[in-house]
Order: sequence, then C-alpha cells, then structure tokens
Amino acid sequence: MYSSTRGCNDILSAAEAIKRGIAADGGLFVPTVLPKIDDIWLAKLVNLDYRGRAFEVLRLFLTDYSEEELKNCIAAAYTTEKFDDAAIAPVTAIDHNTYALELWHGPTSAFKDMALQILPHLMSKALSKTQEEAEIVILTATSGDTGKAALEGFANVDQIKIIVFYPEEGVSPIQRLQMVTQQGANVSVVAVRGNFDDTQTGVKNIFNDPFFNENLAAKGFQLSSANSINWGRLAPQIVYYFSAYADLLAKGHLQLGEVVNFVVPTGNFGNLLAGYYAKLMGLPIGKLICASNSNNVLTEFLDQGVYNKVRTFHKTLSPSMDILISSNLERLLYHITDADTVQIKNWMEELNREGQYCVGQRYLESIKDTFWADWVSDVETLEKITDIFKKYLYVADPHTAVAWHVGERYRQQTGDMTLQVIVSTASPFKFNESVLAAIRDSKNSNSDKKDEFSMLHELSQISGWPVPPALAALEKAPICHSILCNKEDMPLVINDILE
Ligand SMILES: *Cc1c(COP(=O)(O)O)cnc(C)c1O
Repeated sequence: MYSSTRGCNDILSAAEAIKRGIAADGGLFVPTVLPKIDDIWLAKLVNLDYRGRAFEVLRLFLTDYSEEELKNCIAAAYTTEKFDDAAIAPVTAIDHNTYALELWHGPTSAFKDMALQILPHLMSKALSKTQEEAEIVILTATSGDTGKAALEGFANVDQIKIIVFYPEEGVSPIQRLQMVTQQGANVSVVAVRGNFDDTQTGVKNIFNDPFFNENLAAKGFQLSSANSINWGRLAPQIVYYFSAYADLLAKGHLQLGEVVNFVVPTGNFGNLLAGYYAKLMGLPIGKLICASNSNNVLTEFLDQGVYNKVRTFHKTLSPSMDILISSNLERLLYHITDADTVQIKNWMEELNREGQYCVGQRYLESIKDTFWADWVSDVETLEKITDIFKKYLYVADPHTAVAWHVGERYRQQTGDMTLQVIVSTASPFKFNESVLAAIRDSKNSNSDKKDEFSMLHELSQISGWPVPPALAALEKAPICHSILCNKEDMPLVINDILE
C-alpha cells in the first residue's frame, strides 16, 4: 500500500497511486512497507532476461496487479522493436572495475524510456482496476526529452490521450522533429509561441483551473500528468539497478554479496532515488554518487544538509539536469527521517516561504553514509568527453560525462576503488553537436555549422557507432503535427483536440 510523504490519511493501492500521480495533500506516494530481498533471491535474477528481472522486482511493489497483468505490461514495454539492444539496459565494461550501465537503447535514445515505455501500460491497467470511466488526458509541457518519451510511451494506449506542448523556439531541431513526426491515433503535439516557462505556466494554469476541469469532466475527460514523481515511473527504474548487478554476477565480475557503487547524473532525483530504493531493499550498494552540472543544488544539499533553491539558473550542455527543484527528493526525506511527515511538511513550507530548508546534523550524517556528491562545469564536461574517447574509445553524451568525471573524483578524493557503475543516461547522438565538438579532430575537419543529419553521420563515422535507427529515420519521416498557438489559447486548443 502507498501513503503520502506529507501524512494525509489516504492509504492506497499501487493502481490508485499510479492513477492519481500525486497525493491529495501535495505529497508524493511512498510504499508503506519496503520489500526486502536476500542473496538467494538475487542469485535467481542471473538467469533471467530483463523482462524476467522486471517482473521479479515490480511484483514486490505492485502487489495489486495480477502476475498476468504485470507480465503483459512488461512484455509490451521492453521489446526489441522498441529497444535496439536485446539486453534492454546493457552493462558495458570500461576497465577492470568500471562499467557503464546504458539506459538509452529505447525509442527516444534517453533514459526516460526506461520508465515511460511501461508507465502507460501500468496506468491503463490502473484505470480498469479502479473502475475509472473517464478518458484520461495526459498534458505535458516539455523542453525536449520528456515530451517525446511520453508520446512514444502513450501512443495508442487505450482510454488515454496525450497532448504535448513545446516552446516554438525552445527545443533542438532533432527534438522538434522527434515530436512532430509522432504517429498514433491518440497523440497531439502543439507548438506554443514563447519560451519553456510560458509553456509550462500555461499547462500549470490549465491544471489549476476548476472551471475548465469541470467542463472537461462533463465531457468524460480527466486531466493527468506523466511527470517523474509518479510511482509508476519510479518503480520501473529500480529494476535496472538489480539488472546491472545480475549482469555483473553473470559475467563473473562480482561475487554474490560484494558491494558496488553507482554514479548517477541527476536532475529531478528520480534515477538516483530508484538506486536508493534498491539499496534499502538489500541490493549490495556501497555509495550512491550524485553527479550534477553547475545547477549544483543537490551537491550542496547532500554535502551540507541545506536545500537552497534561491540561486541562478544555468543553461548547460547537459540540459536534462538543469533543474533547481528536485521534486523526488521529498521521498528521500521521508525515508531518512523514518516517516516524520510533520517534519517534511514543515521543510516543504519553508522551501516555499523562504526558498530553503536545513535538515540538521543528525540527518546529514545518515545522508552521508549513503551519498556522495559533486558537480562539473561545461568546460570540464567537454574535456571529459574528449578524454573518455581517447582513453577508452567510448562515446559519452554530456550527462554521462558529468557522471564519469564525478566518479573519478570520488575515487581520487576517497581512495575507495570499489567496482563502479556509471549510469549512462543518453545516447551521444542525441547531443551530437557538443559531442562532435569534443571528439572531432579539429585539424582535419571543418567545424562549420552543419545540419543535424550530417552531424549524426559524422559522429557515426568518427566513433564507429551506428546512428540509432529512430534518429536516422527522422530524416524521411512525415510531419504529422503542425498546430502553433499563443499561450493564452492553450485551453481552446485542448477543447478543439478533444472535440
Ligand atoms: C532526465 C534525465 C536526467 C536526470 O534524471 P533525474 O531522474 O531527473 O535525476 C539525466 N540525464 C538525462 C539524459 C535525462 O534525460
């Protein structure tokens, strides 16, 4: 069962928690009891494929889903039609005690697919299990990655429609193409004149407009969101920590019970939190290493126990980590305070009122037992991409390079040479301009601004890696969406689409 981090009395099934997304008091849903695993359970994962491992992990959390329901959701999500590697989340050896866990083999070439491929199926099942009659309309404002991953996941899922709004000027050419070529009878993509803030504010206003929502309800529609605080996005992310460990066991790189450290490039804290759940359940994890870019609010928090959102926002080369409010952190607070929901509510109110809160010495110590954190500038990120390519012939995207750099610093500063898994969150092809700038031989190549597709091919030539098929296909894909609107008109556009 699931309850809120802020203490309201709702105790809900997983299906209900996934359907609602956020608790009535504004808190996040957390499991009331954490399942524990042992070595025998862990050893059994070794001989299973990713789908089998996903089933073993998810059944511990989604206990109200039948075995068959879970297996169907998993089978629909993690297929080789959607993922370009049969391992789904393969582990690549870098050197004798460093590995990369690649979470970008899905249809949009970034880690959001790991959760957004399965969430729509879990949600669709949740609707039937809770006898929901309304048609759910997922509204998303996107600065690029999440929108496409949500479209891919929700396309053609029963009883759900999805409408994605993106800022006309605020996404990269590849990201725009990814979205406007999206197929599916239940998907709409709308460009909004203005920047990401305008778009996001527009969506928030729609969620908070009671009159608009009542009107939709009368027509049989209910709005929902697919953002990263939904338990249905978090639970599937726990799976790949176990899967990575099982792969390392299978290849003989580890003995059962031996401890591993994970380094995770972090923004909203969803990915790293999933690793924390794996550790709480009993997966032998030593340190969880949190890697940030110059938006280093989490570095400061995990180091000093002070969360201060009042700071300059930086646009960086690792844009999916350009975040000042890490919403999933509230779940960490819940577990380190041993479910002190009154305390959490106070901190969240302080954050709203004063822009910061401080957890104090006692909790800071327990945070530091598990976490280590540091951050990396854009210049260092590019240098690291160059360095990794020269040393290992591995091509890291900027997010992965941030993690790599922090992982190396952790080893230098602590002397802890425990086996390290670097969590790699995006394909380098998705950030081809930065990656090319870092790895092309500047003497022999003209670095004039090139179009996206010639950059994809150039990167493929230099690296010897194939262009991800879904990105290559964009060059010839037909455009299916061309609505452009002013931000004031977003509600009208929704009504038109739903007519
Ligand atoms: C979303 C994202 C992240 C950050 O993940 P969180 O769960 O928000 O911490 C890191 N890298 C990439 C490529 C992403 O898309």
